[in-house]
Amino acid sequence: MTPLIDPFARPISYLRVSVTDRCDFRCTYCMAEHMQFLPKKDLLTLEELDRLCSTFIHLGVTKLRITGGEPLVRRDIMTFFRTIARHLDSGALSELTLTTNGSQLARFADELAACGIRRVNVSLDTLDQEKFAEITRWGRLPQVMQGIEAAKRAGLRVKINTVALKGFNEDELFSLLEWCAREDHDLTFIEVMPMGEMGEELRLDQYWPLKDLRARLAERFTLTDLAERSGGPARYVRIEETGQKVGFITPLTHNFCESCNRVRVTCTGELFMCLGQEDMADLRAPLRASSDDAALEQAIRAAIARKPKGHDFDYSRQKVAGQMSRHMSHTGG
Ligand code: SAM
Ligand code: SF4
Repeated sequence: MTPLIDPFARPISYLRVSVTDRCDFRCTYCMAEHMQFLPKKDLLTLEELDRLCSTFIHLGVTKLRITGGEPLVRRDIMTFFRTIARHLDSGALSELTLTTNGSQLARFADELAACGIRRVNVSLDTLDQEKFAEITRWGRLPQVMQGIEAAKRAGLRVKINTVALKGFNEDELFSLLEWCAREDHDLTFIEVMPMGEMGEELRLDQYWPLKDLRARLAERFTLTDLAERSGGPARYVRIEETGQKVGFITPLTHNFCESCNRVRVTCTGELFMCLGQEDMADLRAPLRASSDDAALEQAIRAAIARKPKGHDFDYSRQKVAGQMSRHMSHTGG
């Protein structure tokens, strides 16, 4: 089997799959309050998702991240996790993981751990209950905290993902850091991205460049750059005073494209070769056309052959250039 290699000689080993566009939160930077969700018939069934992921694994994907929308609100999603975990047992997959808002972790953490999941990313932008309700609109902080505790008890390593928002969580930089140190959670900051059709001013207003955040950290701590690379947009530093590792995801910069090892599939089976480009391939049609995987494999290979060199996001001229019309909940962050 020839592995998936794109035209720029990048092996594709990491697949992120959105299993639903629905969510029990309405984070202001991610969704409109009244979202129109997709009709059920457009979504890949759990069986189709399994076939699709298994085909990518067959083609050399070794790391699979399940996301959404909120993956844990998809009905019967644990059946999917239990089934796809066979690729962990066989050794074909080296990691199966998920990104979640944490609201359902109290229910599912034990089962996820039993499937062989070792780490979860939990998105959390503030430790203040009122601010949490404001930014997520529908979320409640205590529920998420209980979820995070359940994950920890189940033996899952927790990484907190925090979207850096000017005027919102700037004042919590050090309290978030201290909380993560105390709880032994990894912490990664994400730069806010121009997604969906939110008001342009709002996002520019909230844009807190991670280089500024980093400079703020450096006023108090000694930061050492780590060579560690994930093949994605994350860069890591160690905080010498606490020993913590902190990540920075700056998707608006181009400096990670050359090592990009990932592609994304939406819950309707659209394969996006680059988070910042509109080009995609429909995998649902070949999935549904035949129970044989040959056409699906062919469609995947043809798409990877078109994976672009990089993306076009640019905030530099105080306008949102290269803005994407799709929501993060659609492509799955
Ligand atoms: N619901 C899950 C969650 O919140 O973790 C998984 C899906 S969510 C779309 C994945 C990640 O995308 C979250 O960490 C979220 O904070 C981030 N995200 C959503 N919209 C974003 C935006 N406009 N800019 C940067 N990150 C965003
Ligand atoms: Fe839901 Fe995650 Fe988007 Fe928030 S960021 S609305 S939790 S999908």
